[in-house]
Amino acid sequence: MTSPPDERSPFRPQPGDAGVLRFDKLKCPTCGTKMDAVSETDGRPMTRTPDNGDRTLCLRCAGLAVFCIGPLGVALRAATADEFAEFQADPESRRTLEAMHMMFEAGKRPPQRD
Ligand SMILES: [Zn+2]
Repeated sequence: MTSPPDERSPFRPQPGDAGVLRFDKLKCPTCGTKMDAVSETDGRPMTRTPDNGDRTLCLRCAGLAVFCIGPLGVALRAATADEFAEFQADPESRRTLEAMHMMFEAGKRPPQRD
């Protein structure tokens, strides 16, 4: 991380792991699993906090969610069809999604969290 997060930010660095930012639990808009962390898909340290409109994938269902960040905090919403099409058109994003589906097929799906 290049600078400490703003104290008003809903995101906090995970102690001992610069690659993960934590936030208050939110439900995946696709499967309802509680999500409370975000990281880069390739294990690199996070260089910035998510912005309004940034996308994230649920580790449980691979559902595409969109961060809604404003003065009242952070929420997640399901991606629109256009956002999903745009995501799938990006080769790196598509590779990440394919890797998640391969992980799921290999039985490496994280447990349902609540
Ligand atoms: Zn999910």
